[in-house]
Formats: sequence, C-alpha cells, structure tokens
Amino acid sequence: MNALNKIIKEKILKQGPLPVFDFMNLALAHPKHGYYIKKDPLGKNGDFTTAPEISQLFGEMIAIYIANQAINHPIKHLIEIGPGKGTLMSDILRTLEKISPQTFAQLNITLIETSPTLTKAQQKSLSGYKVKWDTRLDCSKINQNDLIIGNEFFDALPIHQFEKIDNIWFERALTIKNDHLEWTSLECNKNLIPLNYQDNSFYEYNPYSETLVKYIARSGARAIFIDYGYTTNKNLTDTLQALKNHRYKDVLHDIGNQDLTTHVNFLRLHDLSEEENRKTTVTTQGIFLKMMGIEERTKQLMLKNPNKTLSLQKDLDRLIRDDTMGELFKVLTIE
Ligand code: SAH
Repeated sequence: MNALNKIIKEKILKQGPLPVFDFMNLALAHPKHGYYIKKDPLGKNGDFTTAPEISQLFGEMIAIYIANQAINHPIKHLIEIGPGKGTLMSDILRTLEKISPQTFAQLNITLIETSPTLTKAQQKSLSGYKVKWDTRLDCSKINQNDLIIGNEFFDALPIHQFEKIDNIWFERALTIKNDHLEWTSLECNKNLIPLNYQDNSFYEYNPYSETLVKYIARSGARAIFIDYGYTTNKNLTDTLQALKNHRYKDVLHDIGNQDLTTHVNFLRLHDLSEEENRKTTVTTQGIFLKMMGIEERTKQLMLKNPNKTLSLQKDLDRLIRDDTMGELFKVLTIE
C-alpha cells in the first residue's frame, strides 16, 4: 500500500478528519515520503515543465525587469523561493552580468528550497556564482533592498478549502469510509473567510503566500511572482489538481508520487499588497514578456541562428500565446 495513504489513514483514525491543508502538507512535504522531498518533478522525465525549462528567454526577460527596477532603487539581495533546477536564477544572473554589471556586482543571492534533490540540482547549475541556500525564508528579515522572485512557487503550497453549503461555511477535509479515503466537510468559523469573499460559495486560503506578500509589502521589498491563477473573486471553485507524467490524475490517486497544485488567487494577493499602499500590478505572462521585449529578442536570435527559427518560434508561442501559457499565467509585481 502507498506509504502516505497509510500514514494519512492512521492519522484520521486517531485524530478525526484531516483538512485539505494538512493533507497537502503531508503529500508534498512529509520528511520521508513527501513529493517535493523525494524527487525532481521537472522536465520531460518529470511531471511538469515550467517556463524557465522551456526557454532561456524567460529568465532573460525577468533579468530585464530586475535591471529596470535597480535604476529606481538599488537591489542588494536577490532571493528566489522555490527555484526548481536553478535554471531561472542562472539565466537571470548571466543576463544581469551583461546588461547591468553594476547591479550584478553588488548582489547577494539566496535560494530558498526545501527539497534536498533540487538543492543539489541548483548547486550544479549555479556553481559559477556565489549563492547561499536556506530551507525557509525568515520573513522578519525581508527589507527594502531585497527583490524576491518566485516562479510556480505559490501553486505548490498547501491551502485550506472553504465551501458554503446551504449558506453555512465548511472546511473540506478527508475522512475514511469503508476503508477508503473520502472527502467530507467540517464545521468552520466564518471569520476565516475575508469579508469580500463571504458572499461566494468557495474560497481557497493559501496562508503562506498571503503572509509572505504581506511581509514583503510592509517591508518595502520588491517582488515578482509568476504562476497560473485567476484575478477575479466571482464564481470561485475547487482548483486542487494532481499531475503525474504531464497528465491530470485524481488527487487521491498516488499520494506523494504525484504533484498537487492549486490555482493562485492573484486578486487577493494584489489586494493584500495594495492595502499596504504599495504599487502593485497583476498582468498576464504574455503581456509581461512582450513588454520586456521577448519578441524582439527572439527575432535577434533567429537572425543569428537561422537553423533554430522553428524551435525559437515554438518556445515563444508556448510562453506568450493566449491558448498556451500567455493568458493563464499571471505576473504579480510589487514595486
Ligand atoms: N521555480 C521553479 C520550480 C517550480 S516547482 C521553476 O520555475 O522551474 C516548485 C518549487 O518550490 C520546487 O523547487 C520545490 O521544491 C519548491 N518548494 C515547495 N515547497 C517549498 C517551500 N515550502 N519552501 C521552499 N521551496 C519549496
């Protein structure tokens, strides 16, 4: 039997139903059997592919954004949270060194990563740079000279799912029926739901991302987060999904051996940052990358490498077109 399935059942038998949040925590981060602890989920042989793994141009465009930010106010510390294979940071640093050597020269770099497997991969791809690693970000130390980056990080964090049934709010949880895991609803306190979401029928609360954004906004630090998600507070539904070998699976299918993700509530994160009077924007990945000049850069590369024209066009389309990642993925910036 699946090891985590057994652990979860024992926990439920001892303590009662297990909220989605605790289920996700175990499935993703259990010290021995957790998905992100055990394996490298990225790339062709993994379960999903991310923008930096598709094309180096993604990191180059983020570097252009960072260089622009550094014009207004120096950046002394670049922190990436959930850096995967380290590809994004490596593309950013290579580009920054060229286009903004002064910024590059004064940068401290920290990567925040929980997975030992991915930390090793990052050490390899960033071996030429002076980088520090940590397993958690101490939010109280974030300051106004920091710029924090996260690509597909928020979607990998555990959430609470709240659902309104007959006008009463419940929290979704797992229980056991006929020896099988099954979804159930637990009574919950309505005060957990933000006021402007109380008329909805579904609300997903991502405590870590909300807290992090609040700390960043209060500290004066800048940030850029890219992820798939939504910018509305209407008709919200369950977005929890499981991915294995690039295919969607039942969330309870092979716990700990498939990725669990949720869509990010960008409107909520935007509002939390704006409440602290920070200049906050949410745009689509397609628009953001075009604003940073990804099409011009692609053309330049095509001229230099005519034999790569087709693959460059394919990568560009994948990143910016509305029917691929361009529209579904959003970019949140705090400036
Ligand atoms: N940013 C990378 C990887 C995205 S996958 C890319 O775009 O390719 C999510 C990443 O977050 C992985 O590196 C995973 O190990 C890391 N991660 C998951 N939970 C984390 C946590 N609580 N703290 C830090 N990193 C975490």
